[in-house]
Amino acid sequence: MSTPVLHLDDPVKRQKVLELVRGLDLTADTQKKIRDVFESEMELGLAKNPPVASSLQMENTFLPELCDGSEEGDYLSLDLGGTNFRVIWLRIKSGAVVSEAVQYYQVPEDVRLGPGVKLFDFLAECIHNFMDGRQLKGQNLPLGFTFSFPMTQQGLDVGILVSWTKSFNCSGVVGEDAVKMLNDAIHRRGDTDVDVIAVLNDTTGTLVQGAFVDRKCAIGLILGTGSNACYIERADRIEKWEGEHKDVKEVVIDVEWGAFGDNGVLDFIKTEYDKEVDRNSLLVGSFTFEKHFGGKYLGEIVRCVLVRLTKEGLLFQSNASEELLQHGAFTTRFVSLIEEDNVNGVDVNTTGALNELKLAFNKEDIEIVKYICWLVSDRAAILVSICTASLLERMDRPETTVAIDGSLFKHHPRLKSFMEKYIAAMAPANKFQLMLAEDGSGKGAGLIAAIASRLKKQQAH
Ligand code: BGC
Ligand code: MG
Repeated sequence: MSTPVLHLDDPVKRQKVLELVRGLDLTADTQKKIRDVFESEMELGLAKNPPVASSLQMENTFLPELCDGSEEGDYLSLDLGGTNFRVIWLRIKSGAVVSEAVQYYQVPEDVRLGPGVKLFDFLAECIHNFMDGRQLKGQNLPLGFTFSFPMTQQGLDVGILVSWTKSFNCSGVVGEDAVKMLNDAIHRRGDTDVDVIAVLNDTTGTLVQGAFVDRKCAIGLILGTGSNACYIERADRIEKWEGEHKDVKEVVIDVEWGAFGDNGVLDFIKTEYDKEVDRNSLLVGSFTFEKHFGGKYLGEIVRCVLVRLTKEGLLFQSNASEELLQHGAFTTRFVSLIEEDNVNGVDVNTTGALNELKLAFNKEDIEIVKYICWLVSDRAAILVSICTASLLERMDRPETTVAIDGSLFKHHPRLKSFMEKYIAAMAPANKFQLMLAEDGSGKGAGLIAAIASRLKKQQAH
């Protein structure tokens, strides 16, 4: 597997195209610089009184332990944040999920962007609907809430929203505890009997679920609508952690790398396309790192490149269709499909996508579009690999499994192989493997609820 190559007969045209996408092609020097900045931002994020504020939150998740195999019972979990909102009912025996029932719900746009109270009322209604349909009423089930947004945690059952990201922007929630808002909504209804006992990030859920499958798992990574990771950190290195925790040796840290560089430290990698994607996004200037490769944005980056090349007379005979000019019209699904063509040496998906966008194209256009999708996917893999390699070296374990969940990772045909190649080169001394943790964030929420109720019972005794 090599780096992206563009085959065009006309050397002048080829040169012009390459010139316009040069910034997307990260040189070895630039990669090294990104890594240095990432590592120093991590240190600053863990420091007690950092000289300058870090763009990495490095949040303590208060998850003190993973499953010990004694977890039992029925649990509900909610998974909110990405492509799908879902309610899940899990039966756990001896620390393992033995059966599950899942229901997906659409969160309407006016709910995603409206008052927070309405959002939580909607969630409570979905829980009610789910339980009603399954004769679960009156069982008082404990619930684990995967809330895939940056939070400040003060315990397993407190999650104060720091900022919305991705497709959500409800008023009146930033600075509030999502657990309390959900519990309040449930009580307002008065007809639904559940107890929200744990809140978690999707990366944490993925790590817990991954660690259940494979004991070597020490990183939970999401490559979905947005992106982020958590890892196991030594408690003595978390300088900012105050209060009593002498007996705690390790804790799970949520990096929140989606915001990496929001303070300007990464401006040197931002291309005109990245800036345009940011300008047209819901929360401008916020969580800009994930806008380089998250599933919500990857296709949009490609679209911005294609529009520019068309304007420069290098594509589609200078004719962009109305469809191509529309924000969001070139979806990340297209990128995955076109990458499949790159794998198989064919053009069917590419021509399909271009037809869907009502574009008139020739052989060279196809070449260029395939090249751009490759280039942007390659950059995605490089960026995620830099961060992952940094975590691997930081933990310095003999062998680490990285549990990964998220729509982008699942559907892109070769992000995994790209990442395997890059991480191996970037962290040569650390053995690792990438493992798909299918619905890790949903199952993980049930497992964490089970851990939380086990800890509660232990404390009561
Ligand atoms: C959120 C993270 C989350 C990630 C993946 C980001 O936008 O800030 O908390 O883990 O998306 O869902
Ligand atoms: Mg998700």
